[in-house]
Amino acid sequence: MTLRRLVIQLLAIPFVEAFAHSTQVRAHSDAVVVRVEDDAGHVGHGEGLPRPYVTGETVDGMVAQLQAWWPGLAGRDLPEVRALADLDFLDEWLPSAPVAGVVAPHAALAALESALLDLALRRAGKGVADILPPVRDKITYSGVVTAGDTDQAVRHARQMKLVGLSAIKVKVGLGDDVARLQAIRAGMGDAVSLRLDANGAWAPEQVMARLEALAPTGIASVEQPLARGDLAAWTRLCAESPVPIMVDESLVTMADLEALIAARACHLVNVRVSKCGGLRGAWRQATRALEAGLGVQVGSQVGETAILSAAGRHLAAALPEVRFVEGSFGTLLLREDLSREAVRFGHRGEANLLRGPGLGVEILPPVRDRFALRTVVCGEDLPA
Ligand SMILES: [Mg+2]
Repeated sequence: MTLRRLVIQLLAIPFVEAFAHSTQVRAHSDAVVVRVEDDAGHVGHGEGLPRPYVTGETVDGMVAQLQAWWPGLAGRDLPEVRALADLDFLDEWLPSAPVAGVVAPHAALAALESALLDLALRRAGKGVADILPPVRDKITYSGVVTAGDTDQAVRHARQMKLVGLSAIKVKVGLGDDVARLQAIRAGMGDAVSLRLDANGAWAPEQVMARLEALAPTGIASVEQPLARGDLAAWTRLCAESPVPIMVDESLVTMADLEALIAARACHLVNVRVSKCGGLRGAWRQATRALEAGLGVQVGSQVGETAILSAAGRHLAAALPEVRFVEGSFGTLLLREDLSREAVRFGHRGEANLLRGPGLGVEILPPVRDRFALRTVVCGEDLPA
């Protein structure tokens, strides 16, 4: 059974409400969904969301990378996959030349690797849980309050309290952070875990003052308080901060992680499937971080569809320890999602494991194609 087609689709699914953080406002998803097909009619879906401020990838760059990889896949036999490490053949199949401004082409790799994994498992009648056994039987997700004004933030926080969420992440890095945090804390009560994400908004010389002002609100952690780079500033902050420090944009590659560990530059890591180059990379980073004594958050991409949400859920289900889990907003954020089964979390942020074949979600082609802004097909010229 050989690989005969790769279809790359840029989807623009409108959001129910715009989502903002300190550097971006989004009103629709910009998911890049790929599907691979073999000559026996098996299909696998994968997804990545390029984030220029994280991996350096753009949508156009991601599409170009996927197109550049196709000749390395076309007409080849996809090996059986019995463990994530069996996907290591991709390191040979998908060489990537350095691109200026790109830390690593991880969103492209995540999309393609997930699609190949989905295809390989479906072909074998297996699901991800067969190769990455879960150690818990449900996942509890946290909510996210976007960087809107205080009234909007409080309204979001109240909605999340009504849903019964026990952990909330608040986007900060705006002028009124202390007032917003106090209003959110007042609305949520003391029992809810609040943590922050500054998306690199603060300078090294101001970060301690910001954190000291915010800490009395009761903060579980702060994500990416500083920009990526300047490891010495992260080490200093980590030693002195009144709030545990989590890296997100600072962690893309395994080399980033080793450098952060060696420099004692964080307490927690945010591991996301799209950012880490797929389930394989995310698993390696998360397990290495745990081994080094760091806390792990399984993060997500704003606007991800059921495909990436499913991958994230499998990761969160299998890791020996997870501090926080994000994602699986599904139709809480997207006007429509791509899967037959709902992936979005329910009451208290809880969601069951996905036990179906492949990644565990069945993609609805009419929905997928309806939101496709652009479609690129590789391999149409191969004999059927
Ligand atoms: Mg983040």
